[in-house]
Amino acid sequence: MTADEPLSGRSPGPVGAGPLTAVPSDAEAEDAFRRILRWIGEDPDRDGLRDTPRRLVRSFREYFSGYDEDPEDVLRKTFEEVEGYDEMIVLRGVAFESHCEHHLAPIVGRAWVGYVPDRRVVGISKLARVVDIYAKRLQIQERLTAQIANTIESVLRPRGVAVVVKATHHCMVSRGVRKRGTDLVTSRMLGCFRAQPITRQEFLAFVNSDTPA
Ligand SMILES: [Zn+2]
Repeated sequence: MTADEPLSGRSPGPVGAGPLTAVPSDAEAEDAFRRILRWIGEDPDRDGLRDTPRRLVRSFREYFSGYDEDPEDVLRKTFEEVEGYDEMIVLRGVAFESHCEHHLAPIVGRAWVGYVPDRRVVGISKLARVVDIYAKRLQIQERLTAQIANTIESVLRPRGVAVVVKATHHCMVSRGVRKRGTDLVTSRMLGCFRAQPITRQEFLAFVNSDTPA
């Protein structure tokens, strides 16, 4: 086995562990959760907790399934060349759940994704997939916002991309400063959204007029 061959089938992902780090097995991950249960003062063998490590491993697989998928692929495989349509396309209020990389606490929010195409358009469900794939990794909201915008920019080569993310960070709600009811708003504007205030305002009007479904 060469040094850069992964030690398990699961790829560590672009912001994951380095190439020399072996990815632990499910059994090892379960064992780690069992240790944490002991560490908080629990008995991992009591009835209610016996299956908890296994459930946690399954939940973590789902929370972090975004490492197994390539968002650029999702867009690259599906865009269509169309002539003539050059108006703004906005996908509003895409609900997502992510986890902060500092505390592994949930980040729950919505994303507004807009772009002005230059010949290439993509099905709107694919834009939602891109949000989801990046959300299902350990994140900070600023990077999540930038990654969504940059991926659309680099694959679709549109005239502009705009992304606004609004989210609640549970690490602020349940620990630390304990501020319930605050959310964080981040945005990234590229191309015509950055250069033309009127285009940006049109997009932000969509964002601000939205009432969550
Ligand atoms: Zn946090």
